Amino acid sequence: MGKPTGFLEYDRKNNSSRPPLERIGDFNEFHPPLTKKERSEQGARCMNCGVPFCQSAMTLNGMVSGCPLHNLIPEWNDEIFSGNWEHALSRLIKTASFPEFTGRVCPALCEAACSCGLYGDPVTIRENELAIIENGFEKGYIVPRPPKVRSGKRVAVVGSGPSGLACADMLNRRGHSVTVFEKEDRPGGLLMYGIPNMKLEKQIVMRRSGLMTQEGVEFQLNTDVGSEKDAAELLRDYDAVVLCCGSGTPRDLAVEGREAQGVVFAVDFLKSTTHALLEGGLAEGNHISAAGKNVIIVGGGDTGNDCVGTCIRHGCRSVIQIEMMPKAPDTRTESNPWPQWPRVCKTDYGQQEAIAVFGSDPRIYQTTVKKLISDEQGRLTSVVTVSLAPERDNKTGRTVMKELPGTEKQLDCDLLIIAAGFTGPRDYVCRAFGVECGTRGTVLSREGSYATNIPRVFTAGDMHRGQSLVVWAIAEGRAAAAEVDRYLMGYSALTP
Ligand SMILES: Cc1cc2nc3c(=O)[nH]c(=O)nc-3n(C[C@H](O)[C@H](O)[C@H](O)COP(=O)(O)OP(=O)(O)OC[C@H]3O[C@@H](n4cnc5c(N)ncnc54)[C@H](O)[C@@H]3O)c2cc1C
Ligand code: SF4
Repeated sequence: MGKPTGFLEYDRKNNSSRPPLERIGDFNEFHPPLTKKERSEQGARCMNCGVPFCQSAMTLNGMVSGCPLHNLIPEWNDEIFSGNWEHALSRLIKTASFPEFTGRVCPALCEAACSCGLYGDPVTIRENELAIIENGFEKGYIVPRPPKVRSGKRVAVVGSGPSGLACADMLNRRGHSVTVFEKEDRPGGLLMYGIPNMKLEKQIVMRRSGLMTQEGVEFQLNTDVGSEKDAAELLRDYDAVVLCCGSGTPRDLAVEGREAQGVVFAVDFLKSTTHALLEGGLAEGNHISAAGKNVIIVGGGDTGNDCVGTCIRHGCRSVIQIEMMPKAPDTRTESNPWPQWPRVCKTDYGQQEAIAVFGSDPRIYQTTVKKLISDEQGRLTSVVTVSLAPERDNKTGRTVMKELPGTEKQLDCDLLIIAAGFTGPRDYVCRAFGVECGTRGTVLSREGSYATNIPRVFTAGDMHRGQSLVVWAIAEGRAAAAEVDRYLMGYSALTP
C-alpha cells in the first residue's frame, strides 16, 4: 500500500460524464478520464486489505461479489499511486485478457465487495483498470506478442464474443494455431453488435481483434458454423473445437397480436444502429429507426436501458420501459449487507437521458404487456398493459407476479422492443455438433469442466453459463483454454 492514509484523505472521484442533453447528440462514449494526478489519488484510496474481498468472487446469498478474474487489484492500485504505470499494466494483464472492455462495461463486482464500501465509497477499481490499459495503448507498451514457437496443434473457436476471444488469445499465446469462426461481418459478439457505442466504441473492439490478428489468430468472418460451414469439417480439420456461440435465442412475448409489424428484439434493434454507424452513419432505411415513434421497451434491465439511450439518440417521440418486478430499494436493505452484491435501484445512462428529455423516469414497474393492437395494414398502433402484484405460490413456496384484474391500460405504441433476456444458444449449432443441452438450454459439461459430451468439443461463455456478463465470458474463455491446452499437451502452464 503506497499511502496508508489515502482512504481517509481522498474522496472517491469518478470519471465525469458529459451532460445528458449534450451527449444524446451523438453515439460516442461520454466519460472523459481523470487526470493522472487524480487517478493516482484514487489508487491511493486502496487499503491493500489483508483479505482483499475485491478479488474474491464469492457467492453470497445467490449473487457473486468480487472479481471473477481474481484481478490483482491491490497491487495495481498501489502501482498507479506510485506512478509505476508500466508495472501496473504488467500486473493487470496477468489475469485480465481485455481490460479495455471490462474497464468500460463491467458492473464492477469488485467494487461491490471493496472494504472501503463498508462505511463509505468503494475504490474506483473499474476506472483505475481502464486508465492503466488505455495508458498502455497510448504509451505503446502494448505491442503484438506472437508466440515464438508453434505447437503444431490446431484449434477452432466458434464465436468471437468475449469468451471466444479470451479463449483464442490464451491458446494462441501458448503456441497453438487458432482459427475463430464468426457468422457476423465483424468480430466481437455482443461487444460489437449488442453493447451500444456509447458504452463501448467499436474501434476499441477492432483494436483488440486487430492485435490478435497480428499475433497470429485467424478470423474467418461471415461463416455460420452448423449451417453454412459443416461441423464435421471442423472436427476433421482441427485437434479441438471450442463452442463460444453465446446465448442468442431471445425470450419472446407470448401475447395476442404478437405478429404485428413494429415488434423487434432488442439485439436486432441495437445491432442495426451499430451496423449503420459503422457503415457510414444512420440514414433512412439502413437501420430500425425509433425516430418520431412512441416506443415501448419490454424489460427493465440493462439491455432495455441501452435501447432507451439508443431510441433517444434516434429522436423518438416517447419512450416507456416496462418491468414486471417491483422497484428495487434505493439503498441496501438490512438483509442485503456488504459485501453482498447490492440489490438496489440503479438509474442508468439511458434512463437519466429520458429524464432529461421527457422529464420523468421511463420505467413502469409491476407491469406486463397483455395484448398488441394493430391497424388494417397490420402495423402496431398500441399496447394493452396490465399491473402485477407479488403473490406467494403455495405449491412451490416462490413469489410469483399475478395480474391485477381491472388495471388494463392502452398505450400508444408504434415500436415495441422486446428486451426480456435470452433462453439459450441457437439449437442448430448444438445439433450440428451433437452436444447435450440442459433444462436451461445451455450446453452441458462435466462439473468444473468445459468439455462437452462429444470428445474434443469444449464450450464456454453464455452458451455454457447462460446469459451473463462480459467478465464471466472472459473468465470462462480463459478457463476453457487451459483445459483445451491440457487436453492437447497433457499438461498446461496456462493460469485461467
Ligand atoms: C444489449 C446487451 C448489452 C449488454 N451489456 C453488458 C454490459 O454492459 N456489461 C456486461 O458485462 N455484459 C453485458 N451484456 C452481456 C454480455 O454482452 C454477454 O454476457 C457476453 O457478450 C457473452 O459473451 P459470449 O462470448 O459468451 O457470447 P456473445 O458475445 O454472444 O458472442 C457469441 C458470438 O458467437 C457467434 N456465433 C453464434 N453462433 C455461431 C455459429 N453457428 N457460427 C459462427 N458464429 C456464431 C455470434 O455471432 C457472436 O458473435 C450485454 C448483453 C446485451 C445483449
Ligand atoms: S477491497 Fe478495496 S480497499 Fe481492499 S484491497 Fe480491494 S480495492 Fe483495495
